Amino acid sequence: MPSVYIETYGCQMNVADTELMRGHLARSGYTTASDPGEADVILLNTCAIREHAEERIYGRLGALAQHKVRRPHVQIGLAGCMAQHFRDRLLDQTPHLDFVVGPDAYRRLPSLLSGDPFIDVRLDRDETYADLTPARAAGVRAWITIMRGCDKFCTFCIVPYVRGRERSVPAPAVLEQVRDVAAQGYREVVFLGQTVNAYRDRDVDFGALLRATDGIEDIARIRFTSPHPSDMRDSAIEAMASCRSVCPHLHLPVQSGSNPVLQRMERGYDADEYLRLVDRVRAAVPGLALSTDIIVGFPGETERDFEATLELMRAVRFDSAYMFKYSRRDHTKAGKWDESVSEAEKAQRLQAVIALQERIGAEINAEWVGREVEVLVEGPARRRTGWLAGKTRHFKTAVFPADGSSPGDLVRMRVAHSTAHTLVAAA
Ligand code: SAM
Ligand code: SF4
Repeated sequence: MPSVYIETYGCQMNVADTELMRGHLARSGYTTASDPGEADVILLNTCAIREHAEERIYGRLGALAQHKVRRPHVQIGLAGCMAQHFRDRLLDQTPHLDFVVGPDAYRRLPSLLSGDPFIDVRLDRDETYADLTPARAAGVRAWITIMRGCDKFCTFCIVPYVRGRERSVPAPAVLEQVRDVAAQGYREVVFLGQTVNAYRDRDVDFGALLRATDGIEDIARIRFTSPHPSDMRDSAIEAMASCRSVCPHLHLPVQSGSNPVLQRMERGYDADEYLRLVDRVRAAVPGLALSTDIIVGFPGETERDFEATLELMRAVRFDSAYMFKYSRRDHTKAGKWDESVSEAEKAQRLQAVIALQERIGAEINAEWVGREVEVLVEGPARRRTGWLAGKTRHFKTAVFPADGSSPGDLVRMRVAHSTAHTLVAAA
C-alpha cells in the first residue's frame, strides 16, 4: 500500500485539515508514514499568513527533494494556503514539486494522486467536508472545524483570498463529530473557524451550537477559536455563561488599540467598542481569561497609534497574546500601501508589546497562587521529569508531580507558584 507523510504549518485549521486529509487518504488505501524517507507521497500543508511562513516552506521543499534521488516515484506536493496563494507559479517555478492542492480540493486528492502532476485550487463556496472523517492525532483534545473561509477582508489579511467565502458545517454533522470523538475517548473539543462565532446553520447560530454541545456525555470541556469581536453576539455570551462545559477563556483578537489603525485595518470596531465587549463578557463570565492577537507596524502606525495599543493592553490585561510584526501580503488592500514603519522600528515595537505582555501575564498568573485548579491531564511535563502537565479551564498550562493519573483525567491541584506561562504545584 502507498504511504503518505504530511507536515503541517500554521494555525489549528491546518492541523485539522491535515487530520481530514489523512483520514480521507486512509480510506483510499494510503497508510501513514512518520518519516519522509519512507513515504510515497510527501505533503506539506502550508501557511501564507506571513512572508516568513512561506520562506520556511520553500526551504523545506528544497531539503525534501533529496528523497526523489533514490526513489524517483515519490510525489511531493503542497496543500493549504500557500498552495492557493502561489497557485499560478508553483509548479513551473519549483523543481521536484508534483502537485498543488488548495484548501477546497482535498476531497479529490486520492483520485488526483493516481495521475500526472496536477494543480487543483478551485475554491468551492459549499465545500465543508462535513461527510469526511478525520484521522485525529491521539490525545485528550479534538479539533473540530465548524466553519471554513472568511468574509471579513481585513485589509492586512490573505485568508479570504486563499480560503474563500464563509460557510458552516451543518449542525447535525458537527454534533455527530462531537459524539464520535467522545466515544473515542477525547475529553475536550475545540471548535475551529477563521471567524468561528459567525457560525450559522439555518436557525442554529454559534450560541445555539455551544448549548447543543454542552452536556454531550464524556466531553468535559468545550473551547473555540478564533471568534471575531464583531460577531460576538449575546447568544454566544449567554452560552459561555450558562454552559457547564464551555471554558471561561476567550481568545478575542484585537490587532491594535488605535482607532485610526483599526479603521484602516477595516476590523469593524473601535477600541471603545472592543473594551465594552470585554466588559460585557467579563460581567457574564466572572474570572474570564482573555487572550488576543496583536499586529505592530501596520502601514501608517505612528508612535501615538502604537502607544494606544500598549494602553489597550494595560486596560484589558490579557492573560496571553500572539504578537506579530505586520507582513505585507499580495492581493490584500494594505499590500498596495507604502510601508511606513521600518523593520527596525517594527522589531522594537514587537519587543515592547512582548515585554508588557510578559509582565501582565506573570502578574495575572501570580494571582492564582494558593488557589485550587482543575487540570485536564495531557501527559508528561516537558521540562520536569516525573511531572505531569495539562491545561486548566482558563487555558493555563499547569504542572504537578506525577501521582498516577493518566491523560484524560481531571485532577485538582493547588498552585504553589507561577511563571508568565505556567502554574506550578508544590514539589
Ligand atoms: N480570523 C481571526 C481574527 O480575525 O481574529 C484571525 C486569523 S489569522 C489566521 C491569525 C492572526 O494572524 C491574526 O489575528 C493576525 O493577528 C495575524 N495576521 C494576519 N495577517 C497578518 C499579516 N499580514 N501580518 C502580520 N500578522 C497577520
Ligand atoms: Fe483574516 Fe480578518 Fe478574516 Fe480574521 S477576520 S481571517 S484577520 S480577514
